Amino acid sequence: MKRRTFITLLAVGPVAACGRPAHATIRGLTMGTSYTVELAAPIDDAVRTRLTQLIEVELAAINRAMSTYDARSELSEFNRRQDLGWVPASRGLLEVLDRASQISTASQGAFDVTVGPLVDLWGFGPEIRTRRVPDDAVIERVRQSVGYQHVQADLSAGAIRKRDSRIQVDVCAIAKGYGVDRVAMVLDRQGVHDYLVEIGGELRARGTTAAGKPWRVGIERPVEGRHVVGEIVALENRGIATSGTTEDFFEQDGRHYSHIIDPKTARPVERPPIAASVIADTTMEADAWATGMVVLGPERGYSLAQARGLAVMFVTASGSTFDVRVTDAFRAHLLG
Ligand code: AMP
Ligand code: MG
Repeated sequence: MKRRTFITLLAVGPVAACGRPAHATIRGLTMGTSYTVELAAPIDDAVRTRLTQLIEVELAAINRAMSTYDARSELSEFNRRQDLGWVPASRGLLEVLDRASQISTASQGAFDVTVGPLVDLWGFGPEIRTRRVPDDAVIERVRQSVGYQHVQADLSAGAIRKRDSRIQVDVCAIAKGYGVDRVAMVLDRQGVHDYLVEIGGELRARGTTAAGKPWRVGIERPVEGRHVVGEIVALENRGIATSGTTEDFFEQDGRHYSHIIDPKTARPVERPPIAASVIADTTMEADAWATGMVVLGPERGYSLAQARGLAVMFVTASGSTFDVRVTDAFRAHLLG
């Protein structure tokens, strides 16, 4: 849903030394970024055409439901709504808002899809505007229209509602992960069982590579403007997502202001550059938690992740070196 310069994130697909990793690759553009599907087995032209078509249809439906860059999307329409009553919603939007609300509660409000007005205020929204630190009074005013408790999804009734008309939902921190899960489901339904799906650095793997090995993913970090692979993880039927404060930011008076907003302070997370990677059963969960973990930071986030058994890795830059902190559940995925 958002185009951004792509700095710290994942090396897509299997990293070096995997031998011949994939027999077929399908690529395309979606959500303001690119997607890649790596298949372990070769496919003929007819199968490629069919799979590509099914994937594109699925991704287009997700964009129509939840892009905030499309004023006609279902979510944009919901955001404009002043009425506080229940309104029927598509399955995708329901699932995303329901899971978002659970992760908001579990992350003590660090992950919050209602940060939309703050994202816009700080200049990271769909509208192109000059990025500068807003006035305190304006920040105070805008924060009044943020609060995840003000959006509800009722899966059984198939409806959503807002409890405050000022609420603006921004699903950028979870939608790519959801898209990956949906593309994986398309492949499952077509009987494809060995694949790696990636959208804008969020990713999911199933089965094995052509060599019969688990898919391996290198997690990159920026070193002097280049991308260098740091840790390598093996993924079996899991999703992984990474969020970072060096992905999209501006600087003013020597301070760093990132696109990830702490809903508690209504300001970009204050800390040196930091990235968090999360491995979970679904990429949607990994995506949301990765954003939440950046907000919580390597101390509070680490304790929470350990307590919940979440697989999280924090990378913080200190001078020219990196501090890496992994939870027990994450360590189990590390290679080497
Ligand atoms: P991600 O790249 O998945 O970490 O998502 C970051 C994007 O999510 C930002 O560009 C904002 O649009 C939005 N966002 C910023 N802060 C938060 C937050 N605390 N919770 C949820 N979404 C956020
Ligand atoms: Mg995210």
